[in-house]
Amino acid sequence: LRILLVGGGGREHALAWKLSQSARVEKIFVAPGNGGTTTGEKTVSVPVAAEDFKGLLDFAVKNEVNFVVVGPEQPLVDGIEGIFRKAGIPVFGPNVRAAAMEGSKAFSKDFMARHSIPTAEYRNFTSHSAAVEYVKSVSHNVVLKASGLAAGKGVIIPSSKEEAIAGLNDIMVSKEFGAAGEEVVVEEFMTGQELSILAFSDGYTALALPAAQDHKRIGEGDTGLNTGGMGTYSPAPVATKEVEAEIMRTIVQPTIDGMRKDGIPFVGMLFTGIMLTPTGPKVLEYNVRFGDPETQSLLALLSNDTDLAEIMVACVERRLDCVKFEMKKEAAVSVVLAAKGYPGSYPKGDEITIDALPPNVYVFHAGTKATPEGKVVTNGGRVLAVTATAPTLKEAQALAYKGVDCVHFEGKTFRRDIAYKAFLQEEQ
Ligand code: ATP
Repeated sequence: LRILLVGGGGREHALAWKLSQSARVEKIFVAPGNGGTTTGEKTVSVPVAAEDFKGLLDFAVKNEVNFVVVGPEQPLVDGIEGIFRKAGIPVFGPNVRAAAMEGSKAFSKDFMARHSIPTAEYRNFTSHSAAVEYVKSVSHNVVLKASGLAAGKGVIIPSSKEEAIAGLNDIMVSKEFGAAGEEVVVEEFMTGQELSILAFSDGYTALALPAAQDHKRIGEGDTGLNTGGMGTYSPAPVATKEVEAEIMRTIVQPTIDGMRKDGIPFVGMLFTGIMLTPTGPKVLEYNVRFGDPETQSLLALLSNDTDLAEIMVACVERRLDCVKFEMKKEAAVSVVLAAKGYPGSYPKGDEITIDALPPNVYVFHAGTKATPEGKVVTNGGRVLAVTATAPTLKEAQALAYKGVDCVHFEGKTFRRDIAYKAFLQEEQ
């Protein structure tokens, strides 16, 4: 396979790393890639933006690409799958209609209602006054969501009715999230632990990876501003076998079946954000692609002879029920190293050096860039993530932080408590 991998984050570096282990894979072009995808034996970064569909297609045709893997959501929601399909190049990722499960929260909420998939009670609004009336009328606490893509920033959790009404004003009148806020989902506030469930799908079969937990806030103990994610771990002990089975039975499989019945079979990676509420698991959101940084932990847990390229091709060819799919019987922890100041403003261009890493420790680059002089420098807020695998979560955590000590750059910022919730769980 000659693969075009679209995107340039830690997720894409991890995908390139795992894909390159496949004997079927000859070359992986990562567009635009980052400092970590420039140097692999089979991997090369190419300077074409993930949004530049014409540039990507021209590159693919010239370089005899025969399979496309899409990392981020925006190109999927914008219809990149159709561009390549029409050119005869298969894509691991949903078509534009199926990608609406992430591109429109209003669409996904209506989908869940139609197929009786458990989620928070909700109403969708395009009228500001109607939304305000609804917020005044309900007795439960609400969450406000801009329906469109807002780079993970489109959710407001108000602590009073006044704040909720002000929030509706920000989204629908001041248009703080632009066009993403033209439609708003007003949802019931739920409590519980959050889980990320990632499942490959060919439109019929769902193959789920172990449950992961993300750490969204910049500060330890889940405090401070929201980020793109400061670390993950998997498996999450709160997702017992019974809980996982319930999620597959009541949420993931009905989603795959419901989409097929609606004429939008889902091919690709379905990421379901779940809240374990006192009345059972409920969907927070769907993403139509791998999560970042969940992917870094989860791909490190795939067994050495599980072939990611073969799984992806099987999804496109609708034969996912026949692939070899095995997880290591281990745990993984990924710790994101950010630039000083993130998620606010931060410097770029600081040199990164990495000492020899212990076994079972992996560094996946995100906001990094290779310089013409052969150095790697910081080039984004989330600079890279250190992932470690070990027989137990405690060992994986300790090993990941050993790995963190091997990475050096000015202002290196990270949380020291990734996976802490798993240990609280064990203590209880
Ligand atoms: P992401 O960056 O995860 O893609 P997003 O902007 O697409 O986020 P959601 O995942 O729907 O939006 O919500 C973001 C976060 O807000 C959730 O991870 C959860 O912590 C919180 N949240 C969302 N909906 C609810 C709810 N109904 N009740 C309580 N908290 C919620």
